[in-house]
Amino acid sequence: MNQFLQATEFAYHRYQILLGPRYGIRWLRTFSLRHEASNNDRLAAIISPFLPETRELSDSEHPFSGYPFVRQYDSMLIEPPIYLNAMLTDFRVAGGAVRVRHFDDVSQLQQLAEPVIFNCTGLGARALFNDQDLTPAKGQLTFLLPQPEVNYMMATDDQLYMFPRTDGILLGGTFEKDEWSLSVNEAAKARVLQGHAKLFDGFRRCQRAALDFQRLWNESESFGV
Ligand SMILES: Cc1cc2nc3c(=O)[nH]c(=O)nc-3n(C[C@H](O)[C@H](O)[C@H](O)COP(=O)(O)OP(=O)(O)OC[C@H]3O[C@@H](n4cnc5c(N)ncnc54)[C@H](O)[C@@H]3O)c2cc1C
Repeated sequence: MNQFLQATEFAYHRYQILLGPRYGIRWLRTFSLRHEASNNDRLAAIISPFLPETRELSDSEHPFSGYPFVRQYDSMLIEPPIYLNAMLTDFRVAGGAVRVRHFDDVSQLQQLAEPVIFNCTGLGARALFNDQDLTPAKGQLTFLLPQPEVNYMMATDDQLYMFPRTDGILLGGTFEKDEWSLSVNEAAKARVLQGHAKLFDGFRRCQRAALDFQRLWNESESFGV
């Protein structure tokens, strides 16, 4: 837990100095929707300093219907296509070079001239190091066209989440243990699309929005609009 907290604190400070369009990192309001009260309050309390504005919302403060427990917090969204390209550019500017090649077995690694090797071969490490403990867990994302007006993220306790990226609205999520296939799981895609359609079709006006609307309406009348 100590190591986890140290990593969290380091990441929290480190990513704040990378905020902005160049690295594709920005603060965003996030909503966590649950059917039952959270049973991990200890972890929530420990990481709450890294999630500003954390608060349980009352029913009248949010538009999500069907989820009795809604928590808000602010978090940083990192857009991988932007972030990874920026990292690669920084690496090259600093003098790094990228060479693409395949390693058939460990002996080829041992022939490298470099004194230090980081093994980042992901699932490929299973064959490369004959590590049968490595097993896949397949995840799949579904994208809608970009909608810049969507300015929040949300995740539910029934495996739905939505991140508004600049390259599209990202919808998840799926988790298929021991699944090697890289092809699209059409049933999972349908569940994710139908689940989000139901959730967003079910939006109701919340008290704060209704009050804002009433205030704007009164102002527009007093200006004779
Ligand atoms: C649906 C989904 C959504 C995700 N969303 C996010 C997100 O929003 N943010 C986030 O931070 N993370 C996200 N992740 C997790 C993220 O994708 C992984 O943590 C990350 O890709 C792991 O990176 P890696 O470089 O360790 O491994 P990989 O990305 O698996 O890269 C391994 C590389 O090694 C190469 N390789 C393998 N074997 C060999 C060999 N023998 N010789 C040479 N090369 C080899 C492969 O070709 C590959 O390029 C998501 C994952 C999924 C499935």
